[in-house]
Formats: sequence, structure tokens, C-alpha cells
Amino acid sequence: MEYALTFEQYQEGLEKGKLLGLHCNTCETFTFPPMGTCRNCNGTDLKVAEAGGEGIISTFTVVRVAPEGKRPPYVVAMAELKEGPSVIGNLIDINPDEADMKLIGKSVKLGSQMVEGDVYSSDDCRVITFSLKEG
Ligand SMILES: [Zn+2]
Repeated sequence: MEYALTFEQYQEGLEKGKLLGLHCNTCETFTFPPMGTCRNCNGTDLKVAEAGGEGIISTFTVVRVAPEGKRPPYVVAMAELKEGPSVIGNLIDINPDEADMKLIGKSVKLGSQMVEGDVYSSDDCRVITFSLKEG
């Protein structure tokens, strides 16, 4: 199977501040993060497309007991992108002790940060982060 967007290309995009996903030429759905097929119709006629980089927090949790190698507390959130898909990432730039239900529905800007490889993954990689938008 040939991928329209490889993991390496996706990672390079994140490094440059670009959120690369896939546009389906069959059903016009946007798939993010990228995968082998369209998230809606499983089609493979896909082309690389960039997400706008904004979303709305739909849910979150504060991690106080973290996996080995991670430093709690931190906030993991799910945000719905303007393009439709939901993605999970760390909500940064906030004090986890002040996280409350008012976060749900807030607008966030997507970014990325480098995470070192650990016992659960072999290499360093870039992951999605969220920052609250002002206002
Ligand atoms: Zn499709």
C-alpha cells in the first residue's frame, strides 16, 4: 500500500508548524491525523492538505499518576478541529491544578512538541499540543 502522507512527512510538517492531513477526493472529507485511508469512506484517493490549526476542547483529563518517564500533573485534552476530526494532545500553558470544566468549549490553537522516546516507544517524535486562544 502506498501512503499519500508518510509518518516522516507528517512529523516534518509538525516541525515547521504545519498540520498535514488528507483530503479525500471521493467524499471531500478531511482526515487528521493522517492514516492509510479516508476516515469517512475508507477511500484511498487522497491528497495532502493542511489543517487550519484551530479547534474546540470537547473533553479533557488531568493526569496525576503518569506512566513511567512522564512528569505529572499535566492535562490531556481532545479537541474538535474546524475541519471536523477530533484529535488528542497535551493542553500546555495552563496550570493543571486550575483546570476545570470551564475548559470545555474553549478555542485552542494547535502546535507540537518533541517527546523523547521511552520504554513505550523507540524514537523521539513530535506530538500535538493545544494552547488556549485569548478571549
Ligand atoms: Zn472519503
